[in-house]
Amino acid sequence: MEQHQKPTVVITGTSSGVGLYAAKALAERGWYVVLACRDLAKAQKAAQDVEIPYNSYTSMHIDLGSLESVRQFVKNFRSSGKSLDALVCNAAIYMPLLKEPLRSPEGYELSVATNHLGHFLLCNLMLDDLKKSSSSEPRLVILGTVTHNPDELGGKIPPRPDLGDLQGFAEGFKDPISMIDGKKFEPVKAYKDSKVCNVLTMRELHQRYHESTGIVFNSLYPGCVAETPLFRNHYPLFQKIFPLFQKYITGGYVSQELAGERVAAVVADPEYNQSGAYWSWGNRQKKDGKSFVQKVSPQARDDEKAQRMWELSAKLVGLA
Ligand code: NAP
Repeated sequence: MEQHQKPTVVITGTSSGVGLYAAKALAERGWYVVLACRDLAKAQKAAQDVEIPYNSYTSMHIDLGSLESVRQFVKNFRSSGKSLDALVCNAAIYMPLLKEPLRSPEGYELSVATNHLGHFLLCNLMLDDLKKSSSSEPRLVILGTVTHNPDELGGKIPPRPDLGDLQGFAEGFKDPISMIDGKKFEPVKAYKDSKVCNVLTMRELHQRYHESTGIVFNSLYPGCVAETPLFRNHYPLFQKIFPLFQKYITGGYVSQELAGERVAAVVADPEYNQSGAYWSWGNRQKKDGKSFVQKVSPQARDDEKAQRMWELSAKLVGLA
């Protein structure tokens, strides 16, 4: 049985980008970090490269695209004897140039399977671990994005997210179905749809469990972190121009370090203890650098949709 004096946080997808810098920022705030990654060698190297103190983290395997792997991760975590004080659902894939959908081992479209269904299962399974935390307010944080919200400048670019009536989920979400709304495959929309599901999941977790457990559920948009490898599957020219566009035209650009700090604040700082909140620093960074609770998109605040998403997702991941 391992004992750490420090509070423990599990962060998914720390081999690069926001998750890596969130892990570093939390380690620097005195947290013990479990790097939950699919490529452990890459995760270790990344942690060393950014100089996370070696005694403040461990890595454990998880492939969010595989439900079996998520279940195995939870078993391994429990047998490590660690307590859980915060869970950060950060890992994601974005594959805008795909012509045909990729499939998870269970047969689901891969970006929704990874970004939403894997995390949905993980959150549900790890609620029990968070309930046992000795912290007075354990937290569960899910990364959101401005592109989930067509009411915002960054969310206006088509294709816009639309879960429809979740017909694709209702019909089993396997070949030939590849979109949550049951329509034609569009990889950019699949990513945006998955991020709407992330926000709906956070809000539904809050509705169902905040009062009875005291767990704080929240989400955040860390800003446009234009230089992370999230865009590695885009055209090379896009990868060059996008950061410059965000820096000098929209003003939405945020460094990976600052994005990591923002996640760490939402996990650890007392002022972020409001459950059900979606934190933002603005689409174009506000000059005072202050965060605020932002209204989520009409779909993401639709309670009926949240319940239907919850019930259908539970069925797809084998919880119902
Ligand atoms: P990133 O650098 O590409 O990081 C994504 C992480 O997820 C990597 O560690 C990746 O691991 C991991 N991952 C992917 N598929 C996985 C799987 N099946 N199982 C386990 N881990 C997996 O991207 P990022 O920009 O930091 O994005 C992190 C989060 O921030 C995402 O939720 C994204 O939606 C959100 N976000 C990003 C931005 C932005 O502008 N970049 C803005 C708003 C929100 P590998 O190294 O093994 O691929």
